[in-house]
Amino acid sequence: MTNSISTRLVVLGSGPAGYTAAIYAARAGLNPIVIQGIQPGGQLTTTTDVENYPGFRDVIQGPWLMEEMQAQAEHVGTKIVWDHITSVDLSRRPFRLTGDGGAQYFADSLVIATGAQAKWLNLPSEEHMKGRGASACATCDGFFYRGKKVAVIGGGNTAVEEALYMTNHSHEVTLIHRRDSLRAEKILQDRLFANPNINVIWDSEVVEFVGGGDPDALIGLDIRNKRTGEVGRVEVEGAFVAIGHSPATELFAGQLDLDGEGYIKVENGTTRTSIPGVFACGDVMDKIYRQAVTAAGTGCMAALDAEKYLAAQEYEAIAAE
Ligand SMILES: Cc1cc2nc3c(=O)[nH]c(=O)nc-3n(C[C@H](O)[C@H](O)[C@H](O)COP(=O)(O)OP(=O)(O)OC[C@H]3O[C@@H](n4cnc5c(N)ncnc54)[C@H](O)[C@@H]3O)c2cc1C
Repeated sequence: MTNSISTRLVVLGSGPAGYTAAIYAARAGLNPIVIQGIQPGGQLTTTTDVENYPGFRDVIQGPWLMEEMQAQAEHVGTKIVWDHITSVDLSRRPFRLTGDGGAQYFADSLVIATGAQAKWLNLPSEEHMKGRGASACATCDGFFYRGKKVAVIGGGNTAVEEALYMTNHSHEVTLIHRRDSLRAEKILQDRLFANPNINVIWDSEVVEFVGGGDPDALIGLDIRNKRTGEVGRVEVEGAFVAIGHSPATELFAGQLDLDGEGYIKVENGTTRTSIPGVFACGDVMDKIYRQAVTAAGTGCMAALDAEKYLAAQEYEAIAAE
């Protein structure tokens, strides 16, 4: 028999945004259900050291932080379900979500916290060097490379911003771009070219993340010049891949308003989407900050917005009786 669950609030996603929304919603008496998805705990479970989440003087581990958030959400009354949602119907009320194994979830309101995934170059050596010098987030990991030579890979706004950000920590930042011009906005390019601590290598693609030492850590990048075919090595201890992110919004295409890059659009200063009763928080609606603490912050906002929405619905139902 296929499972069917009805609830006032489903929180879709179990990263910092989803768990924070659940904590606030549970404490507001909404009995939320969190559907975890295939990455319980979200992106932070793919990293080790976290040094910028407030409240911890010492370095903490990403997976541990997410276990604590889950435990806190459960402690205040959240039901956690391990399932991956494969389709949603937001055209009817209650909203209907269908899980991988056919389970049906009916919800009066929905908080979407499905996050985003950083795009990588997909080289086997890059995979091996994740956490050993290869990163997709300078704001998160840049501090660990202070005083070291680093590279940023990419040519858009994010890459230029990450290169500029890294000059707070390093005097030798190399931007590696596969074309002969940048896609980034002109003002960012102007700042980049004016910065004496940034060197740009044009027309080049990374072909290998090179490790060495014990324990194994990044010592360089092998890059190929696309015009000449020549392969050379750039010696760096940190490499930040900044070629964009993919928000997890395929489920909502054609149902919710998304921006040109696929992020869920919300009303300014709120988490309200284009459908009343559907709220979005965390990296799925934020392409600028992309931090655990900002995801948690908007998760809190989504729960408060959902609580207000449900209270108004109840009031209207009583008034109509
Ligand atoms: C390697 C790395 C290191 C980082 N380090 C830091 C750091 O030090 N400090 C910091 O503040 N930030 C860091 N970040 C960024 C931080 O992890 C993200 O900003 C944050 O996790 C975003 O939270 P979120 O809840 O919006 O989404 P995510 O963490 O991306 O979680 C998304 C959730 O949605 C679920 N989901 C997706 N699709 C479905 C579906 N169809 N059905 C059900 N569930 C679904 C997933 O299973 C997952 O649980 C790092 C990120 C990475 C990748």
